[in-house]
Amino acid sequence: MTEARPTVVLLYQRVSLPWIFEGAARAGVDVVLVPRPDEEVRADRLPPAVVEVLPLDVEGDPAGALDALRKRHEARPFHGVATLYDPLVPFVAEAAELLGLPGIGRDTALGAQDKRVMRERLSAAALNVPRFARVDGPDPEPGLAAAGDLDFPVVVKPAHGFSSLGVTRADTPEALRGTVAEVRRVCAAKLGVADAALVVEEYLDGPEFAVESLVSGGRVRILSIGYKGEPEGPYFEESVYRAPAVLPAAVRDAVVREVTAAHAALGIADGPTHTELRLRGGTKPYLLEMGARIGGSGVSHYVASHVSGVDLAAEALRIAVGGAPAGGYGEGLAEPVGAAANYIVPCGGHGRISAVHGLDALRDDPRVDHVVQMLFPGDEVRPYPDFTGYPAFVISRHGSTAEAEEFHALLERAIRIDYAEEATA
Ligand code: ADP
Ligand code: CA
Ligand code: CA
Ligand code: CA
Repeated sequence: MTEARPTVVLLYQRVSLPWIFEGAARAGVDVVLVPRPDEEVRADRLPPAVVEVLPLDVEGDPAGALDALRKRHEARPFHGVATLYDPLVPFVAEAAELLGLPGIGRDTALGAQDKRVMRERLSAAALNVPRFARVDGPDPEPGLAAAGDLDFPVVVKPAHGFSSLGVTRADTPEALRGTVAEVRRVCAAKLGVADAALVVEEYLDGPEFAVESLVSGGRVRILSIGYKGEPEGPYFEESVYRAPAVLPAAVRDAVVREVTAAHAALGIADGPTHTELRLRGGTKPYLLEMGARIGGSGVSHYVASHVSGVDLAAEALRIAVGGAPAGGYGEGLAEPVGAAANYIVPCGGHGRISAVHGLDALRDDPRVDHVVQMLFPGDEVRPYPDFTGYPAFVISRHGSTAEAEEFHALLERAIRIDYAEEATA
């Protein structure tokens, strides 16, 4: 017997980030939550729309998790599977395929997740792709030799990376060997992957942007294009997100064309996507990556919904359970109706945190909708290339992007992290 209400199994969503749960409630979709293994979910404090908690070790034992989902589906069928956690996008596509539920399919998920496959597919569609080399297998030498022909600087990154983990700039062919070894060390330590497959690609010089889209039946509606700063490395920390980005019309049109074409090249025909790109030389869009999911663990819903007026989270869940979006959005870029921003508090050092200044006052600021604090006094921040995570997000709404920029300048002065002691590397 099918559940009375449309039900989605949502994998690895942090309950402290509310947007997708609130979206489910608005869409009338019940959520079976598979919590992150490192997060305790209290039965008396479930987020909106969550009707059941189903603990599964999806990353540690994918076959077991798949089996448990099949049994749950046989006993009480659900209508869809979803995640906002990038590493699980291929698992979700596989589970949906095996259970006969809506999804993008395993092959498409691979292209949206494996940076080697993504680069190859974008390139085959004649889209803008930096020249790149693959370093895979236990012997890095053939990859290093191929990378020697690239224009330096280059960027080294895991093919299956996320959250900028291990992403590192190398300035010369001589430095590349050491960087490759270092990135592999980070992957072994943080992902438990020996001889991780890497991509070495030319450094894209220019400002960075995030693009939030909603796709239905192959029609790509671009909800927002936001400015993401211009991080130069050697390690790439997230810093700001302000949308809508202020761009000359010709550049904006080029971004819309490139992102729309990338959906077709990767075969993503339904659901939400999160695209990151750089404007090489300030004008020409090159995709860094496209994810077949809502970005930023849901922050992308916040930004896209305030910029476009479209309820991205609710629409994505309607699609995930096999329904049609409630709105008809057509194609191309949505006309902005407001501005939204995320300020990612920089670690500003490393060691044991003794104090976090400037956040409390923001909770009552009318511009601020959420202060999401992830690191607290007592927590240890490891130096790069280790990645600890970000101390906090300040998520806000504004009348214009210029006002968001002014607000971020204020936050830069107001928020400070103190450290008690140096961590040992
Ligand atoms: P991840 O999946 O880990 O987020 P990305 O490819 O998005 O990996 O890289 C993380 C960040 O590193 C990007 O947001 C960008 O700032 C920087 N970066 C990655 N590749 C390049 C490149 N080729 N040129 C310039 N910056 C890059
Ligand atoms: Ca990614
Ligand atoms: Ca990224
Ligand atoms: Ca990023």
